[in-house]
Amino acid sequence: MPDIIQLLPDSVANQIAAGEVIQRPSSVVKELMENSIDAQSNSVKVIIKDAGKTLIQIIDNGCGMSDSDARLCFERHATSKIKDAADLFSIRTMGFRGEALASIASISRLCLKTKSIDNELGTDIHIGGSEVESQELINCSKGTNISVKSLFYNIPARRKFLKSNTTELKHIIVEFQRIVISSPEISFILIHNNNEIYNLPSSNNKQRIINIFGKNYLKNLIPINTKTSLVEIKGYIGKPEYARKTFGEQFFFVNNRFMKHPYFHKAISSAYEKIIQPDSIPSYFIFFEINPGNIDINIHPTKTEIKFSDERSIWQILQASIRETLGKFNVVPSLDFNKEGIIDIPHGKPSGEIKQPGIEIDHSFNPFSSNNKSQKFSDDQRNDLYKKNLENWDKLYKGFEDEKMSAFSSDNQPNLDLKSGQAIEKFFQIKKRYILSAVKSGLMLIDQKKAHERILYDKYLHAIENKDFIAQKKLFPVKFELNSTDIVILKAILPEIKILGFDISEFGGTTFVVNGTPAEIISEDVKDIIDSLIENYKNNETIGLKLRENLTRSVAKASSINYGRNLNNEEMRDIVDNLFSSKTPAFTPGGEKIFVIIDIEELEKRFR
Ligand code: ADP
Ligand code: MG
Repeated sequence: MPDIIQLLPDSVANQIAAGEVIQRPSSVVKELMENSIDAQSNSVKVIIKDAGKTLIQIIDNGCGMSDSDARLCFERHATSKIKDAADLFSIRTMGFRGEALASIASISRLCLKTKSIDNELGTDIHIGGSEVESQELINCSKGTNISVKSLFYNIPARRKFLKSNTTELKHIIVEFQRIVISSPEISFILIHNNNEIYNLPSSNNKQRIINIFGKNYLKNLIPINTKTSLVEIKGYIGKPEYARKTFGEQFFFVNNRFMKHPYFHKAISSAYEKIIQPDSIPSYFIFFEINPGNIDINIHPTKTEIKFSDERSIWQILQASIRETLGKFNVVPSLDFNKEGIIDIPHGKPSGEIKQPGIEIDHSFNPFSSNNKSQKFSDDQRNDLYKKNLENWDKLYKGFEDEKMSAFSSDNQPNLDLKSGQAIEKFFQIKKRYILSAVKSGLMLIDQKKAHERILYDKYLHAIENKDFIAQKKLFPVKFELNSTDIVILKAILPEIKILGFDISEFGGTTFVVNGTPAEIISEDVKDIIDSLIENYKNNETIGLKLRENLTRSVAKASSINYGRNLNNEEMRDIVDNLFSSKTPAFTPGGEKIFVIIDIEELEKRFR
């Protein structure tokens, strides 16, 4: 048998690496901005066209490159940041894998202009899909200017996979924020299609956060500062009353590198437990300083997942210092500290077994698979299933149909006991959460929020499909602020949610004004509704819902009545009436059960 193994050509190897490092335009923005930071720049400008699909350009005033380095930097594993394996354990720079430029150059048309301080002239290189097309000397100022055009032009499948400009821009803003928060001393500008999104002067950590999230944010921030032999924790946490229902203001950095850390996130959530609503998320900007030898940043190609050698102790230190900070700032009336004001910090290895909260990660979760729980069944399939499972759906109401009365009539008829057909006066509300009613086969418990969500969803879907504007409740104008990612989302959905009764307009900068909401929204907390709308929208987007479906579901969920709200008999009756005139009363649009029936046999069993 002849030899069959071959070495892949570099251009192919680079494209394969690009598959891991460069998922979308925002990955290019991240890699190039990190290079500018590593090059000691103090000013970085990011210019984007069409959410990065047409152009991503980064201009810095850093150390630049010599003529030969400018050619070499596109080779795979070409890096100036480590020299031998030992350096891997003391990394303080953002890059070190030497993959980014090689990867980006293999999947785009790229132009690099760069000049180092020692050189009279700079270099101008053009590359298309790993091939150098030209290289010449030019006059330019010190620093580096890279333009990445037509990303994925030679990998149509990847290009097709890109999401809408709104979504891709959102990803870019998220990456941008992560980088600029950790380097406040550097000035940054972000421009998209000639609009300046951010212009951030050189400043300190706190000012940088405020420049990003708006002046009002100042009131929200509480400083945190803890130093132990193992780790130093600095930064800011948000006041509980500002906790929002939407993600986007949670940042961890380790040695000034952004990281994702669901386990440490749990430490923070648990410190806030009971002082914020269960579905709210506190904001935080936490900077860990740790000996680089105690972390491994190599476990993920994009370097955002980082392994700590002593995660449990850091978990404890983090949680304790957040609790202490909340206590110190009188945010929490009384906390269960053993010793007030002193945190019990484990030194070195923890002696006893520390109980760590488990994080459940569904490794098999695939956001693109149609098997996700919330998408598993269409409304119709669900309905069939429901009908099969719950025997005697029809029988449940039969008594009334016989009498030519609907089970729960909306006119002024008294409510009826389904079993006997006799009038009963009341629905009961349990724990301000469930509506209890007697039905023919037993007891029915209806989840008030979910029921309302179904009712609103049906109504909104009908409105959107027929462009039939929903009645609106005029409000005394309410102003609110959003961060840039959420602004991008809100702007994109404004026209549609207008149909649903939201009258929201831009007020300038990061501020918006609400002048009206759908008439049936009961809650007065408009900001809260907008927050959960955006959060639902983001979640639905990750499970791949189409715009219209996503929007309808998000608005329905956000505007449905909350738990904890008292309902009078009239209101309960309305909900029950409307629910059972839906084609799909048993499940929310997201597939959650709306009511349960405890049947007579079950009840009888309990008396035995
Ligand atoms: P890494 O950052 O992991 O070293 P990259 O492929 O991102 O790998 O970059 C390769 C090399 O190119 C860097 O190590 C650096 O020497 C040089 N380089 C990249 N971008 C810049 C820049 N903006 N200014 C100066 N040098 C740069
Ligand atoms: Mg790099």
